[in-house]
Amino acid sequence: MAHSKVIIIGSGPAAHTAAIYLSRAELKPILFEGMMANGTAAGGQLTTTTDVENFPGFPSGIGGGELMDNMRAQSARFGTEIITETVSRIDLSSRPFKLWKEWADGPDEAPSHTADALIIATGANARRLDLPGEQQYWQNGISACAVCDGAVPIFRNKPLFVIGGGDSAAEEAMFLTKYGSKVTVLVRRDKLRASKTMAKRLLANPKVEVKFNTVAVEVQGEPAPRGLMTHLKIKNVVEGTEEVVPANGLFYAVGHDPATALVKGQLELDAEGYVVTQPGTSYTSVPGVFAAGDVQDKRYRQAITSAGSGCVAALEAEKFLAESEGGDEPPLVSSTLEQSTGKEGEKGAPSLEYSSNPLL
Ligand code: FAD
Ligand code: NDP
Repeated sequence: MAHSKVIIIGSGPAAHTAAIYLSRAELKPILFEGMMANGTAAGGQLTTTTDVENFPGFPSGIGGGELMDNMRAQSARFGTEIITETVSRIDLSSRPFKLWKEWADGPDEAPSHTADALIIATGANARRLDLPGEQQYWQNGISACAVCDGAVPIFRNKPLFVIGGGDSAAEEAMFLTKYGSKVTVLVRRDKLRASKTMAKRLLANPKVEVKFNTVAVEVQGEPAPRGLMTHLKIKNVVEGTEEVVPANGLFYAVGHDPATALVKGQLELDAEGYVVTQPGTSYTSVPGVFAAGDVQDKRYRQAITSAGSGCVAALEAEKFLAESEGGDEPPLVSSTLEQSTGKEGEKGAPSLEYSSNPLL
């Protein structure tokens, strides 16, 4: 069994940023990058896209895979030990925390690793709909991130569609009005789930049409392998009528699934399964366990915000380890985290909070 001061689980921008900071602080972090963990290759969500144009430092854009290769190389350069395996079980009930790898995690098996501090950066996955034509036109008209892809030329002055009725759908639709000729939002029910303010703003936007009780049925377009989508078949679920409409872009905003199966029942999660962190920090409900990236952020979900939160987690883990080594337990204060989110939180998970600024 190998012991490490700090272990990072994940391989996206949050995990590698944390690894860069912790390895430069000479804490010799171990990073489990996963082996197709949650169906995504090591490197995370950006390995599934083409150009990333909004990550600072790359004025001409950079391929998502290349950006993640660069981050990985930077983690390794400073001494991060990267293990290409998936962590399938952890025990956070006492320190050091215990970790088991996939295929070696039976009830009688000893953990392969232990750690004094853990950073959870397992990310999230945008939900897909498995429509006919979806696989063929994914990234050739279909996207799960308007903020990431909306500005590309194929969408300029073209009819665009958004599926979903939540705040993300409202926000993405309004964002897309800057580029498309018209944005149609397909809402499967007769009402929006979005907050009142967002819904009001969406419905008042002259470039937006909201079609209630309407779902997408099929994506159509130019032939494979490089053809773009051109049309969408939609269906009014009340009247049962179908029509094929011109559509050059289709943006899914039907929610994300955070990768939190590993920590369920051990860390406080919100109603949608995201790890609850104390606002402005990476602190979870268990001292010594920090969370960064999309696994704890359902609002921004960007590479740069994930990287930023990975930095925060590394600095807070470093501070935690220094205080633990000095014999000090990090200061705990009253349980306001539980008060603010307790009703939605995962039952049975501890709910503690540190004092506000750990770096002071
Ligand atoms: P993720 O990127 O979600 O990666 C986490 C990874 O950790 C997982 O994929 C898996 O490989 C690994 N892992 C998970 N569980 C385990 C485990 N148990 N053990 C070991 N490893 C594990 N953002 C932008 O800013 N600009 C863009 O242009 C952009 N384009 C995008 C295009 C697409 C198609 C998608 C899906 C997203 C895009 N995003 C973009 C969003 C961006 O990719 C995410 O916000 C960001 O990758 C989240 O980073 P993360 O570090 O939280 O983890
Ligand atoms: P939500 O879960 O809130 O909304 C998902 C939407 O997608 C719902 O309208 C849902 O319909 C619809 N949907 C789900 N599955 C399907 C399907 N198979 N076919 C068609 N439609 C489907 O996710 P969001 O990403 O919008 O928001 C997540 C959280 O983040 C929320 O708490 C939200 O408030 C927050 N957020 C806040 C923002 C802000 O304040 N600016 C911006 C973005 C997110 P139905 O309603 O019928 O279930």
